[in-house]
Amino acid sequence: MQSNFDLVIVGAGAGGIGAAYAAKKAGLDFCVMEASHRVGGRGLTEELAPGIPWDLGCHWLHSGSINPLADIAGEVGFHYDKGSPSRAFYMQGEKLPSQEQSGFTDYLSDQWKKVEASAARGEDIALSELIDHDSPYAPYYCYWQSLMTSEDVDKFSALDLFNYEDTDENWPVREGYGELLCRHAEGLPVELNTRVEKINYSGTGVVVTSNRGTVKAKYVVVTVSTGVLGARDIQFDPELPVATREAIASLPLGSYNNFAMLYEEEWPFDEDTPDRIDYSNGDDINFAFKLKCSGWPYIYCAVGGRQAKWLERQPLVVSEQLMMRALVDIFGAEFRKKIVKFKASAWGDDPLIKGAYSASLPGNSHRRTELATPIAERLCFAGEAASERAFCTAHGAWQSGRDAVLKLTN
Ligand SMILES: Cc1cc2nc3c(=O)[nH]c(=O)nc-3n(C[C@H](O)[C@H](O)[C@H](O)COP(=O)(O)OP(=O)(O)OC[C@H]3O[C@@H](n4cnc5c(N)ncnc54)[C@H](O)[C@@H]3O)c2cc1C
Repeated sequence: MQSNFDLVIVGAGAGGIGAAYAAKKAGLDFCVMEASHRVGGRGLTEELAPGIPWDLGCHWLHSGSINPLADIAGEVGFHYDKGSPSRAFYMQGEKLPSQEQSGFTDYLSDQWKKVEASAARGEDIALSELIDHDSPYAPYYCYWQSLMTSEDVDKFSALDLFNYEDTDENWPVREGYGELLCRHAEGLPVELNTRVEKINYSGTGVVVTSNRGTVKAKYVVVTVSTGVLGARDIQFDPELPVATREAIASLPLGSYNNFAMLYEEEWPFDEDTPDRIDYSNGDDINFAFKLKCSGWPYIYCAVGGRQAKWLERQPLVVSEQLMMRALVDIFGAEFRKKIVKFKASAWGDDPLIKGAYSASLPGNSHRRTELATPIAERLCFAGEAASERAFCTAHGAWQSGRDAVLKLTN
């Protein structure tokens, strides 16, 4: 490997790829160091069965119309579903009649108004403090919010949630979002199997030490997760400023995993079955099932927060039985036979990630800006946690990588 660069980028997930594109555009001499044998990080597409892709990590192009990766998907010939899916809410096995369905919609809008009012008062408190917990919809609402942030409602800031720029357009990538990131990274100078161990920024430039030796550069952009940073897997010399260390500690990764249930028949449901089903037993079993996955024959589901953390430590069959209980409640006992394969991701156990995505602790929503602030004009952190308006997403990571390069070099 060359030993002198303008810029070293650490990590080849969405953030590293965004930084690499900005570096390429600026004509910089740079390389991307990636510890794993693959690019994409928390974007990973595998085959559920031959020719059937499924995403273990990012899956939806969130805020689609302002998401730069949607344009990139189009450029590389990938497809995404823009349509609004049909939905139904099942409470304890019964489909909610339209009147109660609108009660649920009203509940959602009331909760959001409370988040807005709290933000207007300048509060930075846990979302749980604002929720009407007496409503029958509350358990499902808490589940849903744990998908947004990968944490439970008592453990993340409502103000952070308010700051997220959401256009309410969530477009799944047919060929897989992870595969899209891989395709987008083709041709970039990525050094795989290169684990950065130490970054010395005490001189005029930086010295980056990895398992494959030492290189010098003018700048370094670090895009590894706050899980990896919090575990101090990379040593910094001098020690990082207090504000940066506090930002890392205040933006820990929560837990969140994707699940896929392959069915054998083309469409094993009645014709009028909606594309999505929100399910609640009114208590501790709550799921959002996506029955139509861009035309692929599987059901998609996700779990976040403490439940995801707990399930990740159980045999896979525990997750399967839990989801099957809800599906049987909706479709009847015979439905069990229709599922021929069950798969789950396990991001908490990935040593190069150590969780799902960053949830801002209550009182700490301002930390994302601190994390993204350049240090000594030559070191900048990027990645999803450092995005101010699109944290927890792949496009937010990509944009923050791009912005980090611009901040250091302009
Ligand atoms: C289950 C799940 C579902 C999700 N769903 C969505 C979704 O639908 N839509 C969406 O937009 N987002 C989603 N996300 C979030 C999205 O995937 C992430 O926000 C985004 O991919 C993070 O990118 P990043 O570059 O910040 O970090 P990462 O993807 O974590 O990239 C960091 C890279 O650094 C590497 N690395 C770690 N340590 C070192 C080291 N010491 N030296 C060198 N390299 C190192 C890692 O291997 C990794 O490749 C989901 C995430 C999960 C876990």
